[in-house]
Amino acid sequence: MTPVAKTERLMMLPSDQDMSGRTFGPEERKYVEEVLASGTLTTTKGKFGRLLEQKFAEKLGVKYAYACTSGSAAIHIAVAAVNPNPGDEIVTTSITDMGALTPLMYRGAVPVFAEVDPKTLNVTAKTIEAVLSERTKAIIVTHLFGNPCEMDEIMALAKERNIPVIEDSAQTFMAKCGDKFAGTIGDIGCFSFQQGKHMTTGEGGMVVTNDDAIARHMFLYINKAWGYGDANPDHYFMALNYRVSELQAAVALGQLEKLEECVANRQRTAAMLAELLKGIDGVETPMIANGSTHVYWKYCLTVDDTKIDGGSVGMANLLKEKNIFSAPRYIVKPAFMCQVFQEKNTLGDSHFPFNLARPEAVDYSMDKYPATAKALHDVLVLPWNEKYTEEHVRYIADNVRIVASKLRK
Ligand SMILES: *Cc1c(COP(=O)(O)O)cnc(C)c1O
Repeated sequence: MTPVAKTERLMMLPSDQDMSGRTFGPEERKYVEEVLASGTLTTTKGKFGRLLEQKFAEKLGVKYAYACTSGSAAIHIAVAAVNPNPGDEIVTTSITDMGALTPLMYRGAVPVFAEVDPKTLNVTAKTIEAVLSERTKAIIVTHLFGNPCEMDEIMALAKERNIPVIEDSAQTFMAKCGDKFAGTIGDIGCFSFQQGKHMTTGEGGMVVTNDDAIARHMFLYINKAWGYGDANPDHYFMALNYRVSELQAAVALGQLEKLEECVANRQRTAAMLAELLKGIDGVETPMIANGSTHVYWKYCLTVDDTKIDGGSVGMANLLKEKNIFSAPRYIVKPAFMCQVFQEKNTLGDSHFPFNLARPEAVDYSMDKYPATAKALHDVLVLPWNEKYTEEHVRYIADNVRIVASKLRK
Protein backbone atom coordinates (compact mmCIF):
# COMPACT_ATOMS: atom_id res chain seq x y z
CA MET A 1 0.00 0.00 0.00
CA THR A 2 1.36 3.40 -0.88
CA PRO A 3 1.46 5.67 2.11
CA VAL A 4 -0.96 8.58 1.79
CA ALA A 5 0.02 11.88 3.33
CA LYS A 6 -2.30 12.73 6.18
CA THR A 7 -3.56 15.89 4.52
CA GLU A 8 -4.47 14.13 1.29
CA ARG A 9 -6.98 11.95 3.04
CA LEU A 10 -10.59 13.15 2.88
CA MET A 11 -12.19 13.32 6.27
CA MET A 12 -15.91 13.58 7.05
CA LEU A 13 -16.37 16.23 9.71
CA PRO A 14 -19.18 15.78 12.22
CA SER A 15 -22.27 17.72 11.11
CA ASP A 16 -24.84 19.40 13.36
CA GLN A 17 -27.52 18.33 10.85
CA ASP A 18 -27.38 14.66 11.90
CA MET A 19 -26.20 12.32 14.66
CA SER A 20 -22.52 12.72 13.70
CA GLY A 21 -22.54 16.15 15.32
CA ARG A 22 -25.42 15.93 17.79
CA THR A 23 -25.66 14.42 21.27
CA PHE A 24 -29.11 12.83 21.62
CA GLY A 25 -29.00 9.75 23.81
CA PRO A 26 -30.68 7.85 26.64
CA GLU A 27 -31.52 11.05 28.56
CA GLU A 28 -33.74 12.52 25.86
CA ARG A 29 -35.22 9.10 25.05
CA LYS A 30 -36.17 8.49 28.67
CA TYR A 31 -37.89 11.86 29.05
CA VAL A 32 -39.74 11.54 25.73
CA GLU A 33 -40.98 8.09 26.70
CA GLU A 34 -42.17 9.45 30.02
CA VAL A 35 -44.15 12.15 28.23
CA LEU A 36 -45.76 9.65 25.86
CA ALA A 37 -46.58 7.28 28.70
CA SER A 38 -48.27 10.13 30.58
CA GLY A 39 -50.55 10.89 27.63
CA THR A 40 -50.15 14.64 28.33
CA LEU A 41 -48.47 16.45 25.47
CA THR A 42 -49.43 20.02 26.31
CA THR A 43 -47.17 22.04 28.58
CA THR A 44 -50.23 23.71 30.11
CA LYS A 45 -50.85 20.40 31.91
CA GLY A 46 -47.60 18.41 31.77
CA LYS A 47 -44.54 18.81 33.97
CA PHE A 48 -41.68 18.97 31.44
CA GLY A 49 -42.36 22.47 30.12
CA ARG A 50 -42.26 23.96 33.62
CA LEU A 51 -39.26 21.84 34.61
CA LEU A 52 -37.31 22.92 31.52
CA GLU A 53 -38.01 26.60 32.22
CA GLN A 54 -37.00 26.26 35.85
CA LYS A 55 -33.74 24.43 35.02
CA PHE A 56 -32.87 26.80 32.19
CA ALA A 57 -33.37 29.83 34.48
CA GLU A 58 -31.24 28.18 37.18
CA LYS A 59 -28.44 27.35 34.78
CA LEU A 60 -28.25 30.90 33.46
CA GLY A 61 -28.74 32.52 36.84
CA VAL A 62 -31.84 34.42 35.80
CA LYS A 63 -35.23 34.82 37.52
CA TYR A 64 -37.58 33.81 34.69
CA ALA A 65 -37.32 31.64 31.58
CA TYR A 66 -40.21 30.80 29.20
CA ALA A 67 -40.01 28.22 26.43
CA CYS A 68 -41.41 29.10 23.00
CA THR A 69 -41.56 27.65 19.50
CA SER A 70 -38.44 29.22 17.91
CA GLY A 71 -35.77 31.87 18.17
CA SER A 72 -37.94 34.02 15.89
CA ALA A 73 -40.84 33.56 18.32
CA ALA A 74 -38.51 34.54 21.18
CA ILE A 75 -37.67 37.82 19.43
CA HIS A 76 -41.37 38.42 18.71
CA ILE A 77 -42.24 37.85 22.39
CA ALA A 78 -39.41 40.14 23.53
CA VAL A 79 -40.42 42.94 21.15
CA ALA A 80 -44.05 42.55 22.23
CA ALA A 81 -42.98 43.03 25.86
CA VAL A 82 -41.41 46.37 24.88
CA ASN A 83 -44.79 47.18 23.26
CA PRO A 84 -43.75 49.63 20.53
CA ASN A 85 -46.25 51.95 18.90
CA PRO A 86 -46.46 51.62 15.12
CA GLY A 87 -43.56 53.55 13.62
CA ASP A 88 -41.33 53.35 16.72
CA GLU A 89 -37.76 52.38 15.92
CA ILE A 90 -35.82 49.38 17.15
CA VAL A 91 -32.07 49.40 16.63
CA THR A 92 -30.63 46.09 15.48
CA THR A 93 -27.65 44.79 13.52
CA SER A 94 -26.98 44.60 9.80
CA ILE A 95 -25.64 41.04 10.20
CA THR A 96 -28.24 38.71 11.67
CA ASP A 97 -30.81 36.02 10.97
CA MET A 98 -34.07 37.12 9.28
CA GLY A 99 -35.91 35.54 12.22
CA ALA A 100 -34.54 38.35 14.38
CA LEU A 101 -35.99 41.03 12.07
CA THR A 102 -39.45 40.12 10.76
CA PRO A 103 -40.95 40.05 14.29
CA LEU A 104 -40.16 43.79 14.52
CA MET A 105 -42.27 44.58 11.47
CA TYR A 106 -45.08 42.32 12.73
CA ARG A 107 -45.15 44.52 15.83
CA GLY A 108 -45.15 47.71 13.77
CA ALA A 109 -41.58 48.64 14.70
CA VAL A 110 -39.13 49.98 12.13
CA PRO A 111 -35.76 48.16 12.12
CA VAL A 112 -32.86 50.63 12.18
CA PHE A 113 -29.57 48.95 11.40
CA ALA A 114 -26.40 49.70 13.33
CA GLU A 115 -22.98 49.12 11.80
CA VAL A 116 -20.73 46.34 13.09
CA ASP A 117 -17.14 46.12 14.22
CA PRO A 118 -15.50 44.41 11.22
CA LYS A 119 -13.25 42.41 13.57
CA THR A 120 -16.10 40.70 15.46
CA LEU A 121 -19.12 41.39 13.21
CA ASN A 122 -20.91 42.54 16.39
CA VAL A 123 -22.54 45.90 17.08
CA THR A 124 -20.83 48.17 19.63
CA ALA A 125 -21.98 51.04 21.87
CA LYS A 126 -20.47 53.41 19.34
CA THR A 127 -22.25 51.97 16.28
CA ILE A 128 -25.55 51.83 18.20
CA GLU A 129 -25.23 55.40 19.46
CA ALA A 130 -24.77 56.64 15.89
CA VAL A 131 -28.30 55.49 14.93
CA LEU A 132 -30.30 56.30 18.08
CA SER A 133 -33.14 58.79 17.66
CA GLU A 134 -36.06 60.27 19.57
CA ARG A 135 -38.10 57.36 18.29
CA THR A 136 -35.81 54.52 19.47
CA LYS A 137 -37.95 52.18 21.55
CA ALA A 138 -35.45 49.34 22.11
CA ILE A 139 -32.01 48.05 21.16
CA ILE A 140 -31.43 44.46 20.04
CA VAL A 141 -27.85 43.23 20.24
CA THR A 142 -26.84 39.97 18.58
CA HIS A 143 -23.98 37.95 20.02
CA LEU A 144 -22.79 36.58 16.71
CA PHE A 145 -21.15 33.14 16.31
CA GLY A 146 -20.92 32.61 20.10
CA ASN A 147 -18.86 35.75 20.69
CA PRO A 148 -20.52 38.23 23.09
CA CYS A 149 -20.85 41.93 22.30
CA GLU A 150 -19.13 44.39 24.64
CA MET A 151 -22.05 44.60 27.03
CA ASP A 152 -20.64 47.01 29.66
CA GLU A 153 -20.44 49.88 27.19
CA ILE A 154 -23.75 48.97 25.54
CA MET A 155 -25.61 48.77 28.87
CA ALA A 156 -24.09 52.08 30.02
CA LEU A 157 -25.35 53.77 26.86
CA ALA A 158 -28.81 52.17 27.13
CA LYS A 159 -29.18 53.11 30.83
CA GLU A 160 -28.14 56.68 30.14
CA ARG A 161 -30.85 56.94 27.45
CA ASN A 162 -33.34 54.75 29.34
CA ILE A 163 -33.78 52.34 26.39
CA PRO A 164 -34.45 48.62 27.01
CA VAL A 165 -31.94 46.12 25.63
CA ILE A 166 -32.90 42.76 24.10
CA GLU A 167 -30.05 40.29 23.66
CA ASP A 168 -30.30 37.88 20.74
CA SER A 169 -28.32 35.01 22.18
CA ALA A 170 -29.54 32.40 19.67
CA GLN A 171 -25.93 31.59 18.73
CA THR A 172 -24.46 32.12 22.17
CA PHE A 173 -25.23 29.78 25.08
CA MET A 174 -23.37 30.14 28.38
CA ALA A 175 -20.80 32.65 27.17
CA LYS A 176 -19.45 34.71 30.05
CA CYS A 177 -19.58 38.51 29.98
CA GLY A 178 -17.81 39.39 33.20
CA ASP A 179 -19.61 37.44 35.95
CA LYS A 180 -22.85 37.00 33.99
CA PHE A 181 -23.93 34.92 31.02
CA ALA A 182 -24.68 36.47 27.64
CA GLY A 183 -28.45 36.76 27.37
CA THR A 184 -28.93 37.68 31.05
CA ILE A 185 -27.44 41.19 31.05
CA GLY A 186 -30.01 43.19 29.10
CA ASP A 187 -33.72 43.43 29.95
CA ILE A 188 -34.59 40.32 27.91
CA GLY A 189 -32.54 37.47 26.44
CA CYS A 190 -33.61 35.31 23.47
CA PHE A 191 -32.37 31.83 22.58
CA SER A 192 -33.02 29.41 19.72
CA PHE A 193 -33.12 25.60 19.84
CA GLN A 194 -33.04 25.24 16.07
CA GLN A 195 -31.27 22.14 14.67
CA GLY A 196 -27.84 23.77 14.43
CA LYS A 197 -27.72 25.66 17.72
CA HIS A 198 -25.79 24.67 20.89
CA MET A 199 -28.80 22.77 22.23
CA THR A 200 -31.63 21.72 19.99
CA THR A 201 -35.15 20.37 19.74
CA GLY A 202 -35.23 20.75 15.96
CA GLU A 203 -37.21 23.96 16.36
CA GLY A 204 -37.71 25.81 19.63
CA GLY A 205 -36.62 28.76 21.72
CA MET A 206 -36.54 30.49 25.10
CA VAL A 207 -36.92 33.99 26.51
CA VAL A 208 -35.38 35.03 29.84
CA THR A 209 -35.62 38.08 32.10
CA ASN A 210 -35.12 39.24 35.68
CA ASP A 211 -37.98 41.76 35.47
CA ASP A 212 -41.33 40.75 37.00
CA ALA A 213 -43.52 42.87 34.69
CA ILE A 214 -41.67 41.81 31.53
CA ALA A 215 -41.88 38.17 32.65
CA ARG A 216 -45.63 38.45 33.13
CA HIS A 217 -46.09 40.01 29.69
CA MET A 218 -43.93 37.38 27.98
CA PHE A 219 -45.76 34.52 29.71
CA LEU A 220 -49.06 35.94 28.51
CA TYR A 221 -47.80 36.58 24.98
CA ILE A 222 -46.88 32.90 24.64
CA ASN A 223 -50.37 31.93 25.85
CA LYS A 224 -52.76 34.03 23.71
CA ALA A 225 -52.69 36.48 26.63
CA TRP A 226 -54.93 34.16 28.63
CA GLY A 227 -54.44 34.73 32.34
CA TYR A 228 -53.74 31.15 33.45
CA GLY A 229 -54.00 30.93 37.22
CA ASP A 230 -55.71 34.31 37.64
CA ALA A 231 -58.89 34.68 39.70
CA ASN A 232 -60.86 36.02 36.71
CA PRO A 233 -58.84 35.09 33.64
CA ASP A 234 -59.52 36.73 30.30
CA HIS A 235 -57.68 37.30 27.00
CA TYR A 236 -56.05 40.57 28.00
CA PHE A 237 -54.47 41.71 24.71
CA MET A 238 -53.56 40.61 21.18
CA ALA A 239 -51.20 37.64 21.37
CA LEU A 240 -50.39 34.32 19.71
CA ASN A 241 -49.92 30.75 20.81
CA TYR A 242 -46.16 30.25 21.01
CA ARG A 243 -46.17 27.27 23.40
CA VAL A 244 -43.91 24.27 22.89
CA SER A 245 -45.17 20.74 23.47
CA GLU A 246 -44.10 18.42 26.25
CA LEU A 247 -42.20 16.36 23.65
CA GLN A 248 -39.98 19.32 22.77
CA ALA A 249 -39.56 20.23 26.42
CA ALA A 250 -38.46 16.66 27.19
CA VAL A 251 -35.79 16.74 24.49
CA ALA A 252 -34.68 20.23 25.58
CA LEU A 253 -34.31 19.07 29.17
CA GLY A 254 -31.99 16.26 28.09
CA GLN A 255 -30.01 18.69 25.95
CA LEU A 256 -29.80 21.24 28.76
CA GLU A 257 -28.15 18.69 31.05
CA LYS A 258 -25.31 18.39 28.51
CA LEU A 259 -24.96 22.07 27.71
CA GLU A 260 -21.84 22.79 29.81
CA GLU A 261 -20.09 19.77 28.33
CA CYS A 262 -21.08 20.86 24.81
CA VAL A 263 -19.73 24.36 25.38
CA ALA A 264 -16.54 23.07 27.02
CA ASN A 265 -15.86 20.70 24.11
CA ARG A 266 -16.36 23.48 21.57
CA GLN A 267 -14.03 25.76 23.53
CA ARG A 268 -11.34 23.12 23.97
CA THR A 269 -11.17 22.24 20.28
CA ALA A 270 -11.42 25.90 19.24
CA ALA A 271 -8.42 26.73 21.45
CA MET A 272 -6.56 23.89 19.75
CA LEU A 273 -7.37 25.33 16.32
CA ALA A 274 -6.28 28.86 17.34
CA GLU A 275 -2.94 27.42 18.46
CA LEU A 276 -2.48 25.46 15.22
CA LEU A 277 -3.36 28.46 13.02
CA LYS A 278 -0.92 30.86 14.66
CA GLY A 279 1.25 32.92 12.37
CA ILE A 280 -0.54 32.47 9.02
CA ASP A 281 -0.10 35.90 7.48
CA GLY A 282 -3.46 37.19 6.22
CA VAL A 283 -5.63 34.76 8.21
CA GLU A 284 -6.89 35.95 11.61
CA THR A 285 -8.60 33.93 14.35
CA PRO A 286 -11.53 35.45 16.34
CA MET A 287 -11.16 38.56 18.51
CA ILE A 288 -12.78 38.19 21.91
CA ALA A 289 -13.83 41.16 24.06
CA ASN A 290 -12.10 41.72 27.41
CA GLY A 291 -13.73 39.77 30.23
CA SER A 292 -15.76 37.59 27.84
CA THR A 293 -15.61 33.98 26.73
CA HIS A 294 -16.46 32.74 23.23
CA VAL A 295 -18.65 29.61 22.97
CA TYR A 296 -17.95 28.90 19.28
CA TRP A 297 -21.26 28.32 17.58
CA LYS A 298 -19.13 28.64 14.47
CA TYR A 299 -15.42 29.33 14.10
CA CYS A 300 -14.80 32.51 12.15
CA LEU A 301 -11.63 33.39 10.33
CA THR A 302 -11.02 36.71 8.64
CA VAL A 303 -9.06 36.54 5.42
CA ASP A 304 -7.10 39.46 3.98
CA ASP A 305 -7.43 39.36 0.19
CA THR A 306 -4.45 41.66 -0.28
CA LYS A 307 -2.38 38.71 0.95
CA ILE A 308 -4.49 35.68 0.01
CA ASP A 309 -5.58 35.47 -3.62
CA GLY A 310 -9.40 35.37 -3.80
CA GLY A 311 -9.71 36.02 -0.06
CA SER A 312 -12.37 34.13 1.88
CA VAL A 313 -14.12 32.87 -1.27
CA GLY A 314 -10.86 31.58 -2.73
CA MET A 315 -10.08 29.71 0.45
CA ALA A 316 -13.60 28.29 0.76
CA ASN A 317 -13.47 26.90 -2.78
CA LEU A 318 -10.28 24.97 -2.06
CA LEU A 319 -11.41 23.86 1.40
CA LYS A 320 -14.59 22.43 -0.14
CA GLU A 321 -12.43 19.99 -2.13
CA LYS A 322 -11.30 18.67 1.26
CA ASN A 323 -14.86 18.24 2.57
CA ILE A 324 -14.57 21.36 4.72
CA PHE A 325 -17.78 23.23 3.92
CA SER A 326 -17.27 26.76 5.17
CA ALA A 327 -19.44 29.81 4.52
CA PRO A 328 -17.39 32.58 2.95
CA ARG A 329 -19.06 35.98 3.56
CA TYR A 330 -21.52 34.29 5.97
CA ILE A 331 -24.97 35.61 4.94
CA VAL A 332 -23.28 37.23 1.88
CA LYS A 333 -25.38 40.40 1.99
CA PRO A 334 -26.59 42.35 5.00
CA ALA A 335 -30.18 41.69 6.07
CA PHE A 336 -31.40 45.04 4.72
CA MET A 337 -30.33 44.10 1.19
CA CYS A 338 -32.85 41.23 1.13
CA GLN A 339 -35.96 41.66 -1.01
CA VAL A 340 -38.30 42.02 1.97
CA PHE A 341 -36.50 45.26 2.93
CA GLN A 342 -35.61 46.53 -0.51
CA GLU A 343 -39.22 46.23 -1.70
CA LYS A 344 -40.75 46.65 1.77
CA ASN A 345 -42.95 43.61 1.22
CA THR A 346 -45.04 43.44 4.37
CA LEU A 347 -48.82 43.71 4.83
CA GLY A 348 -50.81 43.93 1.61
CA ASP A 349 -49.39 46.81 -0.39
CA SER A 350 -49.18 49.14 2.62
CA HIS A 351 -45.37 48.88 3.17
CA PHE A 352 -46.28 49.00 6.87
CA PRO A 353 -44.47 49.94 9.11
CA PHE A 354 -41.99 51.55 6.72
CA ASN A 355 -44.72 53.96 5.58
CA LEU A 356 -44.57 55.47 9.10
CA ALA A 357 -40.78 55.72 9.25
CA ARG A 358 -38.40 58.67 9.08
CA PRO A 359 -37.02 58.39 5.52
CA GLU A 360 -33.40 58.58 6.72
CA ALA A 361 -33.99 55.66 9.13
CA VAL A 362 -35.00 53.36 6.29
CA ASP A 363 -32.44 54.38 3.69
CA TYR A 364 -31.19 50.83 3.37
CA SER A 365 -28.28 51.29 1.01
CA MET A 366 -24.97 49.47 1.02
CA ASP A 367 -22.76 52.57 0.84
CA LYS A 368 -23.95 53.64 4.31
CA TYR A 369 -22.43 50.47 5.76
CA PRO A 370 -18.75 50.22 4.81
CA ALA A 371 -17.76 48.26 7.96
CA THR A 372 -20.51 45.70 7.35
CA ALA A 373 -19.39 45.32 3.74
CA LYS A 374 -15.77 44.85 4.84
CA ALA A 375 -16.74 42.38 7.59
CA LEU A 376 -18.79 40.20 5.24
CA HIS A 377 -16.17 40.41 2.52
CA ASP A 378 -13.40 39.09 4.78
CA VAL A 379 -15.17 36.51 6.93
CA LEU A 380 -14.82 32.76 6.46
CA VAL A 381 -17.17 30.83 8.73
CA LEU A 382 -15.99 27.33 9.56
CA PRO A 383 -18.58 24.86 10.81
CA TRP A 384 -18.01 23.84 14.41
CA ASN A 385 -19.57 21.48 16.92
CA GLU A 386 -19.12 19.58 20.14
CA LYS A 387 -18.24 16.27 18.49
CA TYR A 388 -15.02 17.59 16.94
CA THR A 389 -11.92 15.72 18.12
CA GLU A 390 -8.25 16.62 17.96
CA GLU A 391 -8.06 14.68 14.69
CA HIS A 392 -10.77 16.83 13.10
CA VAL A 393 -9.12 20.02 14.32
CA ARG A 394 -5.73 18.99 12.96
CA TYR A 395 -7.32 18.13 9.63
CA ILE A 396 -8.95 21.58 9.41
CA ALA A 397 -5.78 23.38 10.55
CA ASP A 398 -3.53 21.50 8.12
CA ASN A 399 -5.85 22.26 5.23
CA VAL A 400 -6.31 25.93 6.11
CA ARG A 401 -2.53 26.26 6.22
CA ILE A 402 -2.06 24.46 2.87
CA VAL A 403 -4.81 26.45 1.15
CA ALA A 404 -3.46 29.77 2.50
CA SER A 405 0.03 28.96 1.18
CA LYS A 406 -1.36 27.88 -2.21
CA LEU A 407 -3.18 31.19 -2.55
CA ARG A 408 -0.47 33.41 -1.10
CA LYS A 409 0.12 36.47 -3.29
C1 LIG B 1 -31.14 31.06 14.59
C2 LIG B 1 -31.23 32.52 14.86
C3 LIG B 1 -32.46 33.18 15.04
C4 LIG B 1 -33.79 32.55 14.74
O1 LIG B 1 -34.01 31.40 15.40
P1 LIG B 1 -35.05 30.31 14.77
O2 LIG B 1 -35.16 29.32 15.88
O3 LIG B 1 -34.41 29.78 13.54
O4 LIG B 1 -36.31 31.02 14.51
C5 LIG B 1 -32.44 34.51 15.41
N1 LIG B 1 -31.30 35.16 15.59
C6 LIG B 1 -30.10 34.58 15.39
C7 LIG B 1 -28.87 35.37 15.59
C8 LIG B 1 -30.03 33.24 15.00
O5 LIG B 1 -28.84 32.67 14.79
